Amino acid sequence: MDLQLRGKVALITAASKGLGKATARQFAREGAKVAICARSESIDTTAAEIASETGTEVLSLRADVTSQADIERVINTTVERFGGLDILVTNAGGPPAGTFDDIDLATWETSINLTLLSAVRLVKFALPHLRQSTTPAILTITSTSTKQPVENLVLSNSIRLAVIGLTKTLSQELGSDKIRVNSILPGWTYTERVEELINARIAKSGETKEAEIARVSATVPLGRIGTPEEFANVAVFLSSPAASFVNGVMLEVDGGAIQGTF
Ligand code: NAD
Repeated sequence: MDLQLRGKVALITAASKGLGKATARQFAREGAKVAICARSESIDTTAAEIASETGTEVLSLRADVTSQADIERVINTTVERFGGLDILVTNAGGPPAGTFDDIDLATWETSINLTLLSAVRLVKFALPHLRQSTTPAILTITSTSTKQPVENLVLSNSIRLAVIGLTKTLSQELGSDKIRVNSILPGWTYTERVEELINARIAKSGETKEAEIARVSATVPLGRIGTPEEFANVAVFLSSPAASFVNGVMLEVDGGAIQGTF
């Protein structure tokens, strides 16, 4: 199947590693022009790696998605370099782990800024350009925590639901502009963040890493943790013109871990 991404412009935020990086690489493999951002200089290394692997131009931008000025600059620089914007993938680092008792009020506010307001600002600044595209799409990256709360992740369990509400609302409001808006809800996917979560769990429980991975895998009907590439394949398809009638979908990519029917 041709995903019709050749020459399309895709911006993926928070993409120096993990799900964002895997998604950027897959867009590049499909011939899209890719812009990526993250806070540290490691974003330059990631961009160079993807460009040399795929032969595609990759624009590397240092930016913090919690900064309005940075987000505005990221959108403007992408459009100046590539002449437009067709696809926006909103990603950010996860909010801190913890129970309700662990998290103070200041951390709630910084987490709302990181997880919800980063997406709001990205869409605000991207919209004028997406409205000029013939195949515009927005994809938000959220979590299966929006369907089933995850132990020790009260911030993710709470704030990401607002991103789901935003995504669904935009899919209704922007339909008249032909802009498709969807979300992917990743389940356990083996990235550095998951490595950190597993290390934090074994530090508390005294289990071995293998035992903890086996415990997590047992919660997934497919019996394992997913890979960033498996996530990226779905993210790129959903954002591509090949998925032209898919709008307002909240798609779990979790090996079947969420048991609810809807
Ligand atoms: P990761 O920690 O491996 O990568 C996060 C990326 O975000 C990195 O490139 C980092 O540099 C960047 N980043 C962090 N804060 C940033 C900021 N303020 N501004 C710009 N860039 C920033 O994480 P991941 O596993 O790839 O997860 C991506 C998102 O998906 C996170 O929000 C995570 O909570 C969520 N998620 C992940 C999983 C999973 O199993 N991996 C499951 C559900 C949800």
